Amino acid sequence: MAWFKKTKKPIAAKAKEKASRVPEGLWVKCPDCAQAIYNKDLATNLNVCPKCAHHFRIGAAERLRTLFDGEWTEYDKDLMSTDPLSFTDTKPYKSRLKASIAATGLKDAIITASGTIDGIQTIVASMEYEFIGGSMGVVVGEKITRGIERAVDGNMPLVIVCCSGGARMMEGALSLMQMAKVCGALARLDQAGLPYVAVLTDPTTGGVTASFAMLGDLNIAEPKALIGFAGPRVIEQTIRQKLPEGFQRSEFLLEKGMIDLVIDRREMKTVIANALRFMGAVRKPAPVAVAGLLTTTSEPPLLPTLPQRS
Ligand SMILES: [Zn+2]
Repeated sequence: MAWFKKTKKPIAAKAKEKASRVPEGLWVKCPDCAQAIYNKDLATNLNVCPKCAHHFRIGAAERLRTLFDGEWTEYDKDLMSTDPLSFTDTKPYKSRLKASIAATGLKDAIITASGTIDGIQTIVASMEYEFIGGSMGVVVGEKITRGIERAVDGNMPLVIVCCSGGARMMEGALSLMQMAKVCGALARLDQAGLPYVAVLTDPTTGGVTASFAMLGDLNIAEPKALIGFAGPRVIEQTIRQKLPEGFQRSEFLLEKGMIDLVIDRREMKTVIANALRFMGAVRKPAPVAVAGLLTTTSEPPLLPTLPQRS
């Protein structure tokens, strides 16, 4: 006979986890409306279901393609984690890093780059979920911080596209201190009077939500993205209750005033460009051809009229 007995029934697990990444093959079944979509149609539609507007998760480089007008300049491409704690959970952290590098072709879970968004020279940091859940370790923190410093030095606005499970536990406190470091850098960007737009995509959770994801002058989310601090599964297990439908999704957070806008990926670039212009950013002058030589006119400062803060 058992001495102790659980009186509460454990909550039932979800029937099935829906795949959010675009699968391989010629045809893709939309996890939301179950329609078969031709793979190329999906690609031309920025990986949004043409029938029901389900947003498939996209990679960091793909994201930059959807935002920039054309080419971009990538920074700190070769920055890599050194596994400072020699951490091992079910596998050594070093082998997780190696596997993610091979799978994504990136050295860590973020790309920082500069390019033009509708003619506006901008620094964009884009997170890669396929790299250890887009987790924020020392490299992610450092690359974002350097990106912000570049924005301040170059008088450019900043866009960060968040897609992350939170801080990288394999780097312990070192990953947690990135939250403070990035926030400090964002404060300097604010003092310089430069705009910062945060784009929250599915999922944006943990330490990323608790730091830079919610600090934008404008916080824009993609439809139905999971945004929260602890995931719904953790909350359900803690309070032993089913959460309401749509909890921690973009639309729910918009209704509660946690974010400013929910924007379809296909309109994201236009909305960001308009917002940046509204906040004082100007287009880069178009190149002028002089006697067969391509030169640019002398560039005025990007934000010439912004008042200095006291
Ligand atoms: Zn669909």
